[in-house]
Amino acid sequence: MSDTHYDLITVGGGLGGAALASVMSRAGARVLVLERSRDFKDRVRGEVLVPWGCAEVDKLGLFDALRDDLGHPLRYWAVDLGGVPAVRRDLVADSDLGLPVITFFHPDMQCLMLDRAIADGAEVRRGATVVDVTPGQTPAVRFEQDGQARDATARLVVGADGRGSSLRRWGGFAVQTDPERRAFAGVLLDDMPAPDDTMHSRFSPSEGRMSWLFPQGNDRVRAYVGFDSRSSDEPLSGKRGLARFIETSVALGVPKEYFDGCRPAGPLATFDATDNWVEHPYRDGVALIGDAATTSDPTWGQGMSLTARDVRVLSESLLGHESWDVAGHAFAEEHDRGYAACHQCDNWYTDLLLEPGPEADARRSVALPRILEDPTRLPDTPISGPDQPVDDSTRRRLFGLD
Ligand SMILES: Cc1cc2nc3c(=O)[nH]c(=O)nc-3n(C[C@H](O)[C@H](O)[C@H](O)COP(=O)(O)OP(=O)(O)OC[C@H]3O[C@@H](n4cnc5c(N)ncnc54)[C@H](O)[C@@H]3O)c2cc1C
Repeated sequence: MSDTHYDLITVGGGLGGAALASVMSRAGARVLVLERSRDFKDRVRGEVLVPWGCAEVDKLGLFDALRDDLGHPLRYWAVDLGGVPAVRRDLVADSDLGLPVITFFHPDMQCLMLDRAIADGAEVRRGATVVDVTPGQTPAVRFEQDGQARDATARLVVGADGRGSSLRRWGGFAVQTDPERRAFAGVLLDDMPAPDDTMHSRFSPSEGRMSWLFPQGNDRVRAYVGFDSRSSDEPLSGKRGLARFIETSVALGVPKEYFDGCRPAGPLATFDATDNWVEHPYRDGVALIGDAATTSDPTWGQGMSLTARDVRVLSESLLGHESWDVAGHAFAEEHDRGYAACHQCDNWYTDLLLEPGPEADARRSVALPRILEDPTRLPDTPISGPDQPVDDSTRRRLFGLD
């Protein structure tokens, strides 16, 4: 076999590509990871791994390193509705998984995962940009590194190239998208004295706005504001944007004194939060995982957990089937099932807590009093994962229709 033929090539070395490389290399596969960045900067990406994502990363054999080397645990989840404290949940005591949320700085997580992939035997090339992929029985990859064009082939090429995935196009995958409704802006703040054991979400449903605070320890906090992108709100970025970000957060109930001495530790950026996805993300020697397969609304913090689940489902399928074509199709089916449950549940939460307008207000006037009386009406999918029931009776209980 030639030097440039691999069992698996991953396009992208984020959580998806790096974790898959680790698991498959450990199982004896020859794996090449092609990652275009040499160094990782704050891109305002996921830094909160919810409990079901922690459990998925644990199944990949990567959780201990993530928690012990980088992770900051958040045991409590506080929710305010319309300025009033509504729920304070102990995630460890009050969930089947018994796990907290873990926060970390995303660039450090990416370095850790790539280091683990190398230690597990993968070949990792940083500063290698994939410029073309030809699907087929032996898919081929063209990439550029140090000004030179290079070629490699594999049994399977995996598109782990994130929310702007080119593999979707090169692989001939059709992309589905929800109607546009939400935008999500985030910034990392230092010297912010928010309680460091609690993630705090504040919703103003009639305005369609919300804020999240995710402490990372040592008074560092990843802060977000979500808003209805169909309203007149402009994207938040730069210095002026930061002043508006803080104003909006304070209007949502974040104590003003949290911001008094704080300073940004990275860029403020706004993202379109509309879900877009590929149905059945495998064809012709190319599989898509993570954001390349499914870019989910970051408001609900499911992206890295879905990515870790893709890595587990794909690796189990590859290791369990002689034919990787059969394995690819089996992965795609199970991927679709998991994403459908998360997607449905996220949309219900958005309808309930973030859709402005009289119809949504009427829905809330029925549902919210019943939820406050009995919080088990809230489907637990965002915390416990897609194996929770998500069906018509779940919807009826959430909206107080039963
Ligand atoms: C604002 C925001 C907040 C979020 N918050 C959360 C959260 O709280 N919790 C959560 O679970 N998720 C969150 N997410 C989602 C989370 O960041 C993603 O789901 C996760 O990073 C996906 O991992 P990935 O490996 O699929 O893609 P990425 O992390 O995007 O990695 C893709 C990699 O591919 C590389 N690449 C791309 N193209 C090429 C190419 N042509 N050649 C070589 N390399 C290439 C890129 O450089 C990158 O390193 C958030 C997302 C956003 C935008």
